[in-house]
Amino acid sequence: MKCSKLSLCVSTVIAAACVLFACTHNPATGKKEFAPFMPSTGQQVSLGLKAAPEFERQSGGRITNPVVQNYVNSVGQRIVAVIPPNERRDFRFSFTVVNDKIINAFALPGGPIYITRGLLYKLETEADLAFILGHEVGHVVAQHSARQMSKQTEMQLLIAGAGMLAGDSQGGQTAVELGKFAGGMYLLKYGRDEESQADTLGLKYIVSAGYDPQASIAVMKVLQSATSGSSKGNDWFATHPNPGNRLESLNNQIRRNYPQTINNPKFVTNREAFSQNVLRQRAEVDGPVRQFEELLVSINAD
Ligand SMILES: [Zn+2]
Repeated sequence: MKCSKLSLCVSTVIAAACVLFACTHNPATGKKEFAPFMPSTGQQVSLGLKAAPEFERQSGGRITNPVVQNYVNSVGQRIVAVIPPNERRDFRFSFTVVNDKIINAFALPGGPIYITRGLLYKLETEADLAFILGHEVGHVVAQHSARQMSKQTEMQLLIAGAGMLAGDSQGGQTAVELGKFAGGMYLLKYGRDEESQADTLGLKYIVSAGYDPQASIAVMKVLQSATSGSSKGNDWFATHPNPGNRLESLNNQIRRNYPQTINNPKFVTNREAFSQNVLRQRAEVDGPVRQFEELLVSINAD
């Protein structure tokens, strides 16, 4: 590929910047990425812990059944146990089910991970759950929200700089507004590349943890059918854009990178454990909530 002088110049500047500033390694791509204003892992952990109570409140709170919470956390910790130390760093992972009927899962910076009861009950096996949690762990490990914060700060400085150069007093004001936006960027929409990276990492982690990676295909089908036509609110595809070839890409990765897992009973789904610890707990978990929702529906229908 022939590079223009401009692109050569830009890449030289980025290479020089990578020498001068700390470029971060992205475990999903294996490449170094220029993100000069990225919060440290410690700062990401603080941001996530600070945001967690408000996030939980807005998501209907934690479900109260300890069997379900402990089980989901134990599956998450089985994933965490296989993350290579250079990827795991000092992130502090936790896994929580929130009492929200939407179909989604979320990762706050630094490690708090959430799955809604709406999504949890659409799944069929422990391996399905492991893939969802592994995908969210992938967003944290690849530091996607932190990278976006860095980009926002770069933009903020550019706008402030441009404003100053132009003698525009509004420039500083715009930068302040952008700063406010960056401060609230815990729940970002991810880009297609970020989704693919989280899928790749999630797949790697569940195979390392001994789960059947075919679960990733099952999960994609569940998400597609459960949220088809829905892009409103906080449903999965509103915050996780769907690359057209996502399912195909997962299939290809399994064939190419994990052929040892195909038709190999050593890689488990743990269907029965999921059934016992989640599905059979369901009436107990959200019985009162469901009754209340049904009551509301009947009142609204009157
Ligand atoms: Zn995602």
